Amino acid sequence: MPTARRRYRDKRAPSLALRRRFPLISGVSVLSIHRYPSRVLTQHAAEITQINARAAKLLNDMVDTMYASNGIGLAAPQIGSLLRAIVIDTDSESRGKQLIKIINPEILESSGSVVWEEGCLSVVNYTADVTRARHVLMRGWTIEHKEVQIEASDLLAVCIQHEIDHLDGRLFIDRISALKRSLYRKRLNKQVRQDEDDAPAKRPGAL
Ligand SMILES: [Zn+2]
Repeated sequence: MPTARRRYRDKRAPSLALRRRFPLISGVSVLSIHRYPSRVLTQHAAEITQINARAAKLLNDMVDTMYASNGIGLAAPQIGSLLRAIVIDTDSESRGKQLIKIINPEILESSGSVVWEEGCLSVVNYTADVTRARHVLMRGWTIEHKEVQIEASDLLAVCIQHEIDHLDGRLFIDRISALKRSLYRKRLNKQVRQDEDDAPAKRPGAL
């Protein structure tokens, strides 16, 4: 979910430039992120029924994509996979220490209320205040077939709710007022039109 403001530097992963020059040695899969209004972002993701190598690859690709995008959370539908998997790392300074990769997450309990300014890697150039539960208890599975329960508050709780929303086909802009959402849509449409005017040769069928 929210994009971390400070630039991410991961000592484990090669730089993006290096990755582009030597794509085969990195072992890193950075996938493109679907953006609003892509249809995949509105669909309900299915439970993962087998925790296997394919699920492990999905989670690893999600982590690589999240880090490369300077994000602090990512849900599988954002990379086009309609499966219930999320990754979160709220520590953008020291990557990996707080990383969680969860399969079939669900919220068992929630309480309190908090307003947080949210952004999303799938909603470009926009943030808005969203009200959510302040504390949550989440249950899910790790890639090691271990059932886990995670108690979270504030930013982590917000992230968990934001990512699980993605699995249910919901974006944070679905949780703001209809007026704010329509203003965002108008701005986005204007931006798209501007981009088209700037690059007429890219338009399909352009001469
Ligand atoms: Zn998001």
